[in-house]
Amino acid sequence: MLRIRELGKTYANGVHALNDVSLDIPRGMFGLLGPNGAGKSSLMRTLATLQEADHGSVTLEGADGSPIDVLRDKDTVRRQLGYLPQDFGVYPKVSAEDLLEHFAVLKGLTARRQRREVVDGLLQQVNLWDARKRKLGTFSGGMRQRFGIAQALLGNPRLVIVDEPTAGLDPEERNRFLNLLAEIGENVAVILSTHIVEDVTDLCPTMAIMNKGQVLLTGRPNDAIESLANQVWRKQVAKATLGDYESRHTVLSTRLVAGNPVIHVFAPERPEEGFEQVAPDLEDVYFQRLRQQARRVAQADAA
Ligand code: ADP
Repeated sequence: MLRIRELGKTYANGVHALNDVSLDIPRGMFGLLGPNGAGKSSLMRTLATLQEADHGSVTLEGADGSPIDVLRDKDTVRRQLGYLPQDFGVYPKVSAEDLLEHFAVLKGLTARRQRREVVDGLLQQVNLWDARKRKLGTFSGGMRQRFGIAQALLGNPRLVIVDEPTAGLDPEERNRFLNLLAEIGENVAVILSTHIVEDVTDLCPTMAIMNKGQVLLTGRPNDAIESLANQVWRKQVAKATLGDYESRHTVLSTRLVAGNPVIHVFAPERPEEGFEQVAPDLEDVYFQRLRQQARRVAQADAA
């Protein structure tokens, strides 16, 4: 559906935001997971034709099956693309209905009756029908993001890109929003960029982990989790000894349970007495890949 090959971008300040990124993104929900500064937004903005790459290629499969060169044929891409940027701003004094109508005009929906139908349908789809007359400034974070999805869906895009959409949403709003995305993903490719592991775990059949401009893993979350089977160990330790454990072992994560840290360690065999084996989850995969990369970078620096 979307084929990205060796995409590179270095900003004027010397930051390598995209380091030969290659990915195949199928229809459905695709989770792009990475910490802040990983390069997710740089990738999203490039796919959304809002910034240039230095090199590489991106091909989108068009509605008729013919390939579209995303980096060159920008107008064609824009007609098939819906984008919800990280910093999606709305006019606080305008109603949801009026602003969506306005965006629809900009999208080229000039026939009034047809536009009305599309706008009404989208407001229903994102569950804002009852709130359509309310000013956007009165919306909660979750409502604003659902409005953002409605505007992204104008024009029936084949590719929908959402950049960090769940940051700042409370758990209920987050769930509601992710379910909405999953519904949309039944028909089109949805790329969900996030630093929240749980956003990806339940909803994305395929995913990638990215950091420092590099793709560290891509595939199905379950396969990635499976690859860590029998290699993740848990122990509750005293706070004062945490540093020792971190220097001796590959500590993936630390969580406070009743005031004391419970650590997850990655090791082929039981690291020491007192560790019990746990079933790995996507968070273990995520941190294992980040630690592995950090070690590679440290080794390269030392050499
Ligand atoms: P993410 O979305 O994963 O947080 P970004 O793509 O925003 O990552 O940023 C990747 C790296 O590129 C970061 O180090 C960031 O500071 C840097 N960066 C992003 N945009 C610019 C820019 N316009 N100019 C210079 N550096 C940038």
